[in-house]
Parts: sequence; structure tokens; C-alpha cells
Amino acid sequence: MQSHKLICVLVIVLLVSFFPARVSAQTETPATENGPRTYRSPNFVVHSDVKPEEAKELLQRLETMLGLISTYWGQRNRKPIECFVVEDLKTWPQGVLPPDAIDKIRGQAGVTIAQGLTNGRQFNINAKVYAVSDAGVPQHEAVHAYCAQTFGTTGPVWYSEGMAEMGMYWKKGDSSVNANPIVIDYLKKSEPKSLNEIVNGQETTGDSWQNYAWRWALCHLLANNTNYQKRFRPLGLALLQNKGTSFEQVYGSMADEIIFEYLLFLENMQTGYRVDICSWNWKARPRLLKGVRPNKVDVEAKAGWQPTKAQLAEGEEYEFTTEGTWTILENGDEINADGNELGAGKLVGILFDDYKLSEEFEIGAYGKFTAPADGHLFLRCKDEWGTIADNDGEIEFQIRAADPNAKPLPMPGQ
Ligand SMILES: [Zn+2]
Repeated sequence: MQSHKLICVLVIVLLVSFFPARVSAQTETPATENGPRTYRSPNFVVHSDVKPEEAKELLQRLETMLGLISTYWGQRNRKPIECFVVEDLKTWPQGVLPPDAIDKIRGQAGVTIAQGLTNGRQFNINAKVYAVSDAGVPQHEAVHAYCAQTFGTTGPVWYSEGMAEMGMYWKKGDSSVNANPIVIDYLKKSEPKSLNEIVNGQETTGDSWQNYAWRWALCHLLANNTNYQKRFRPLGLALLQNKGTSFEQVYGSMADEIIFEYLLFLENMQTGYRVDICSWNWKARPRLLKGVRPNKVDVEAKAGWQPTKAQLAEGEEYEFTTEGTWTILENGDEINADGNELGAGKLVGILFDDYKLSEEFEIGAYGKFTAPADGHLFLRCKDEWGTIADNDGEIEFQIRAADPNAKPLPMPGQ
């Protein structure tokens, strides 16, 4: 079953005292006709029974992923990671794979077995990866192996598994959501798991693909959202280096904001969704609209909800106008805030009040509307959440409390 592929088990054996480095015996597997062969690249030694072309592709994927994660954590990989990647267990000679690994591989999963010595400050760990050949299992496990060999630990379960899932999906220069569609679908349809449950729940590694999905969602959000990413890397490094910190210490003061953005992420998540450009603007302070001079703001097409600094009151009428055009496809037609015939590209609004959002409502290029609730007005260009990254342009928006005695606001283009 596809879903089983997301489960892995990490076993770490850490002893309390430190001994001189132990030379690791590298397992050289015999190259039988259909059996495993050994392949090498700068950071990996892979034993696998997949076809040679597939093995080379796998090494390339692993090297790319390792380059990304070692840059992210700022620590180079210390020694090659040995991986056993299995397509067909029957072709493997007996005794090469430990029984724990055979169990996981039979369950379409993987395991990283890290063994070595540590006294808490110094360590000498060798991590071996055992994984089925499909999906991203070898990459996921290789993240654990890198962490174990580089830091002597992989951190708490939520971080370790969340980051390993991210490592599996990481692409250079692309921070969009590209998780398994089953994972995205599950997260969107489920009752959201609380952050406390994800971070502090009595959960263990290898528990269920559903738990992995929540850990990935939290790590992906914190690693990419511009409000939280600056604190996330140092938090991760401190967790990996056992520096006595916690999620609560680092993010406790921002709990309301993180919960709000976490729920919004789950609601709007799609393949292609960009957490960075949908980060909430917490700095903009709204004020009540007074007088005939309108409140003016630019709304970008390539972004999520954007603040207007206009505080609206339920049942009150407002008048607005816009100026400019934007595009919602690469090299697409210029359209104004009324959008196209299908309603895409239309200017839409939402009201934020005490960490709660109203329903989204349509605004358009010119006219009046009655506020459906109290709150700070946020705007965006209506588009599928997964495809706003190819949008371009901005529209100027003006709003004021409706006043029948005042000169009307200028129409677009006037
Ligand atoms: Zn794992």
C-alpha cells in the first residue's frame, strides 16, 4: 500500500562513554546476476538490486538532497552514508540485511540504524540506511543518517521525522508544496491536530504515515513562512546539538500567530502552494475609516492575503475603486480587478478579527459593498492557491466609508 511507504523507523544506539574511533567494516556485497551491486558517489555507498540506470539516478537524487540539507544545517557530511536499497528481497544473499531491516522492507518502508559511541559532546556514529527502492524512502532515511553521523542525534521525533519528510520532497530553489497527494488530501480532510499534540504527544518514530504528515506540515510551515523561518533553523540546530531548548521556548510568544497560520496552511494547502508568499502580515495595524479621503493600498497578484489597514464594521457600507491590471498566468492576458469571464483574477476580500477570518467575499474593480462582519480587511487576487506563484502585477485599491454627499470615487482608468 502506498501509504505504508511513508513510515520509517530510526534506531539509535548511543553509549555513554567515548572510545577511540572504531573502524567500520564496509559490507561489500557480491555482484551476482540479479543480486545487489555496489555503487559509489562522493557521499554515498549504495548497495542495490535495482537496474544500474536506476541506481545511478538514485545516487544523483541522494547527492542533490544531501547538498541541500548540508547547506541548510551548515555542516558538511563527515563520511559516506552506506545504503541498502532493496527492490526484490529474494535476490539478496542471506545475512547481508539485519532482521529489523528485512521487516521494514517487507512493510514497504525503511530503517536507519545508527550505531556508535558518544559521551554527549564527542561522538563517532555510523549510520546505515535500509530502504525499499520506491518513492522517497531512501532519501527520507538518508536525512536521518546524515543527522546521526553529523550531530550524533536526530532530534525529537516531530523534528526528526518532519525534516526527513521535507528532505524527501526538497527541490533546489523550489519551496512549493510537492508532498504526496495522499498526504495533502489527508491533511485537508482531517480535524487539525494541535501543535501541542504534534510537538509533545507521546509519539514514536515509525508510528503511522498520518503522524508523519502532521510533522511534515509543521516543519514545512516553519521552515518556509517568513514570520517563523528565521527562528526555525537555529531551533533545529539547537535540538540536534542538545542545547536545551524547546519549541515552546522559541515560539511560545508567537503561539496565536503560528496556530492561525498553521490552520490557514491546512485549509489552503495544494500542490504548488507557496508558504513564503502566503505568509501573514502581522505588522500592519488597521484603523477605522473616516472622512472622504480614501485609504489607499497596492495589492499584489503574486501573494496571499494582504492587509489594507482598513478596519470595517459589520453592516456598514463602503465604496471602493481600483486602478491597474495583473496577470494570473505566465505571459497571460492583463486583466483588471473584475477578473476574467470565469471569475479568476477578481479582487476578493476577507475580514480578520481576533485570529478569526470571515468568509471570503468578492469585491471587483469598482462599486460598493456592505461589510459582512467586523474586522481588518485583507485582499488578494482570486486564483487557485497552488498557482499564485506565476501571477504578476499589482492593483491599487482605494476604500472609504460610503458617503452619498461626497463626490464619487474615480472609475478605473479615469
Ligand atoms: Zn524517519
